[in-house]
This record gives sequence, C-alpha cells and structure tokens, in this order.
Amino acid sequence: MFLGHYGVAFAAKKVAPKVSLGVLFIAAQFADILWPVFLVSHVEKYSIVPGISKVSPYDFIYYPYSHSLLMDIVWGLILGLVYYGITKNRRGAWVVALLVISHWILDLIVHIPDLPLSPFGDIKVGLGGWNSVAFTIAIEVLFFYGGLIIYLRNTRAVKPVGNWVLGVLVVLLTLLYFLSTFGKADNGPLIMLFIVFMLLQTILVLLANWSDKNRRLV
Ligand SMILES: [Zn+2]
Repeated sequence: MFLGHYGVAFAAKKVAPKVSLGVLFIAAQFADILWPVFLVSHVEKYSIVPGISKVSPYDFIYYPYSHSLLMDIVWGLILGLVYYGITKNRRGAWVVALLVISHWILDLIVHIPDLPLSPFGDIKVGLGGWNSVAFTIAIEVLFFYGGLIIYLRNTRAVKPVGNWVLGVLVVLLTLLYFLSTFGKADNGPLIMLFIVFMLLQTILVLLANWSDKNRRLV
C-alpha cells in the first residue's frame, strides 16, 4: 500500500493534534523508510517479477526487519519512546507508535502472502488485494481521501500557503502513486532506489510540515 498510509497519517491529526503532520507521515511510512536502508545494506532482498500479482511486480523475497509484525511493533515502540523523550507528549507518542504498526496492517490488506510475522519464522501472510486492480485503487483512494477529509475538517489554513502547499502535496502523492503503480519497474541499482526513496520521503515530510505549520486546529 502507498497512498493509504498517508491517509491514516492525515486522519491521526484528529486524535493527536499536537503532533506535526511530518512526524505522522514518518511514523505511518516508517517500514518503507527502513526498507531501502536494509536493501542497500544487503540485509533484505527483493526482485521484480512481472505478474507476481496483478498490481505490484515486487517480489519481497526477504524483509522481516522492516516489514514483519513483530519488528513493526518494536519499531513503533522505539519511535514512540523517542518522540516522548523529545516532546513529553504521551498521547502523541502512542499515536506515533500505533501509526508505525498500522503500516503492517494496511500492507496486509493488499500484499500477497509475503509479509512475515517475525524474523524468526517462515510464516508469511497477506490478503492479496493486489490481485485485483479495481480493489487496490478503491482501497488506496478510500483510505487516502478519507483521511485527507478528516484532516481538512480538523484544520484551517491561517495563511494561503497552508492551503496551496497541501494541494501540491496531495497532487504529488496521487501522481507518485499512479506513476509507480502503472509505470515500468525494473531491477535497477539498489543505491538508486535508496536515493530516490529517501529524497521523495524527505520532500513529502517537508511539504507536510510546511503546510501543517500554516494551518491551525478547529
Ligand atoms: Zn510497506
């Protein structure tokens, strides 16, 4: 899943209004931020296998450190603790932790059975939403725009920039999703994947914080 994670982050603003949108983005996408790090360090492994599912050509051969249920719970607790250490915001820290774990649950809906429960066993799960193009788009759009509507209802722009940066962010995310899903994927060099992923995540987090800073809660 891609867009859906950002939708959950948008929606989380309602329950954790003091947490910046950029931090909510990082938490919801933490597994996908770790993934390229583990790929370049050759700890995790993937391959492009066209047709492995109707939507995604990614064969996630081995990725239990970024994408197992157990490790995402561990990462969630670590990120939540770090957030608490910095801000002393207990509620926000719990939301950050739960957002990290939500990544695995959302991925579970669309992935074919390739998601490990822990790094210590062979059990892999996935409900296979990616076997249907219509279902995949429906669920991504539902989560993303549903979350966005919740965010829009709970915040108001104090300066025009709070609206138009948010607009740019939403268009960029939608474009990235459709380009990456229906574009051509290949087994490029890992370092390129790492750089592109990190650059995009950084841009998205910066845009989210820029917009969020110019909006206030209602
Ligand atoms: Zn993921």
